[in-house]
Amino acid sequence: MLYQSAAQRGLIGNGVLASLDAGEYQRLFHLLRVVDLCAQQTLYTPGDRLQHVYFPVGCVVTGVAVMDDGATVETAMIGPEGVVGVSAMTDGYRVRYWTRVLLPGEALRVEAEALREFCEESQPCQTMLLRYYSTLISQVSRRAVCNSRHRLSERLCTWLLMVHDRAGTDDFPVTQEAVARHLGVRRAGVNECVGWLEDLKIIDHVRGHIRILRREALEAEACVCYPAFKAEARWFDGMAAEKNGGQDEYQRASASRGGNEHRSSRP
Ligand SMILES: [Zn+2]
Repeated sequence: MLYQSAAQRGLIGNGVLASLDAGEYQRLFHLLRVVDLCAQQTLYTPGDRLQHVYFPVGCVVTGVAVMDDGATVETAMIGPEGVVGVSAMTDGYRVRYWTRVLLPGEALRVEAEALREFCEESQPCQTMLLRYYSTLISQVSRRAVCNSRHRLSERLCTWLLMVHDRAGTDDFPVTQEAVARHLGVRRAGVNECVGWLEDLKIIDHVRGHIRILRREALEAEACVCYPAFKAEARWFDGMAAEKNGGQDEYQRASASRGGNEHRSSRP
């Protein structure tokens, strides 16, 4: 049996599973199967009925909206902090977004129906999934604002930080073409921003790999959304508002930095 001992459980590395108490986890673990997800693997396409739910461990998955003209824009990013397909908790749910693997790696997979049945008997598991679902909706909502309000260079920095937070490594295989698809922009714009970050020696980009060289500098160039995205990726540590007397990270960042609108050297 997989991940039975506390030591093995500690190796799972998924925020939702790690947030369950030992008893709940012991009851759930035998429903889980370890799967290797490949880069660019499609997990769901729009209209699919959700068959499986995934708890990422070493992979990063994204939800992508596809327009009528084929244009794409990423709406959500899910890594080891979350659950892919959490909407399966609503019986009969059909997928609205194309869901693909951005960075390959392991995940723990469970049949959607089996998880629904488990949650009918496990209030703690249901509560944990709903709490994560709330965090995911918050991310999707903020991404919509970010996509329409912030400059491409800021959005690129924020996106790279979000990937970095979930990848667990400074170097990840992402092409500029893929970045453009995820940000919903032309590749020429991404090329210009990547070149700008390379000139500042903040990142390096070689043969389809991006390496983060100076994370603090990348954070300084990101849009004001990033602190909130970072807090949401650590939702299991407690919501940011609880730590800051009711003022969330987004509000704090906006108040302290006043946004990046006046920076002139960035593309
Ligand atoms: Zn933003």
